[in-house]
Amino acid sequence: MSGLILNNVTKQFGTFTAVKDVNLTVPDGTFVCLLGPSGCGKTTLMRMIAGLDLPTKGSITLGGEDITEVPTHKRNLGMVFQSLALFPHLTVGENIAYALRIRGMPKADQQKRVDELLAMIDLAGFSDRSVNKLSGGQRQRVAIARALAISPKLFLLDEPLSALDAKLREAMQVELRQLQQQLGITTIVVTHDQREAMTMADTVVVMNGGKIRQAAAPVDIYRRPADSFVADFIGSTNLIPFSADGNGRAIILGEPVEGLALGGVNSGTISVRPEDIQITAPESGSIPGKVSFVRDLGGTVETFIEAGGQQIVAVSAPRTRPDVTVGQTVGIRLDPLTSVVLTR
Ligand code: ATP
Repeated sequence: MSGLILNNVTKQFGTFTAVKDVNLTVPDGTFVCLLGPSGCGKTTLMRMIAGLDLPTKGSITLGGEDITEVPTHKRNLGMVFQSLALFPHLTVGENIAYALRIRGMPKADQQKRVDELLAMIDLAGFSDRSVNKLSGGQRQRVAIARALAISPKLFLLDEPLSALDAKLREAMQVELRQLQQQLGITTIVVTHDQREAMTMADTVVVMNGGKIRQAAAPVDIYRRPADSFVADFIGSTNLIPFSADGNGRAIILGEPVEGLALGGVNSGTISVRPEDIQITAPESGSIPGKVSFVRDLGGTVETFIEAGGQQIVAVSAPRTRPDVTVGQTVGIRLDPLTSVVLTR
């Protein structure tokens, strides 16, 4: 089997289980983001893929070969880890050529490869520059080029952009994704930033408590979250309890709502994205509520509504902003087709 396959991978530190029974297939040429809150086990999982830690249990195969116990330097990996900074005393070119020199590549070939990589990261002509004279974004691009110099089978990056300011970070996310697509290299990135994961990944792997909660395409994670943790962690959402009334309707915030796909469930939680909440007049068929706060962020307007003892948030574009003021009684309608019934 090609690609990277994790089979029941578990890591224990003493009695503490940091990664538990992880099963994941990363097809060749795809981009996967490991995403989750601090301490969820994503770095530990990445370290096992990199060969920096041994799993307590389970196996890892790459391109059909069991690499569970193969040392890092024999895995043919490119790595950009936060802790692996550039060598400050070497030039840009020397940094990029480092692994090539160790492997005994002739000098002329090294320079050719360095020039190729510099062109690829838009830093042609920077070979003799000291790395200390680069901006944060340029330095990060050199670190990426250095990791790619040996044409690795697998490209691993742990929080590669976290030291950059927000604007540069967003630009680099697009660059990194374009570079990965251009090279077709299988890539795994650890991040705690969901926007970053959704920008870059073919598959977002959401982790919590050492386990995979969901692995799916970004839009599926957003539109069809597997559970309330994922729904709440990815974007913002309204988690609202419901119970079935026995006639195919759900009682939500005290009102019957038609059209929700309940799937035979008697009670649980629904996730409704703020953009799927419509604010109306307090008319029949809508859920009654009272506006408690309006936040105008320029590009979007958020309206907070107290309804059925819960705070509901609705988001709209400025053009379609509801004409409401704090304290006003309104009605809420939620879109049954985009509301997701969660059973866990
Ligand atoms: P962050 O985003 O904060 O880096 P993470 O999701 O990458 O978090 P890990 O670094 O994988 O989390 O850590 C997962 C859990 O395992 C944490 O509770 C951490 O304290 C624990 N852990 C990690 N390495 C060790 C170790 N060498 N010994 C004991 N516990 C460890």
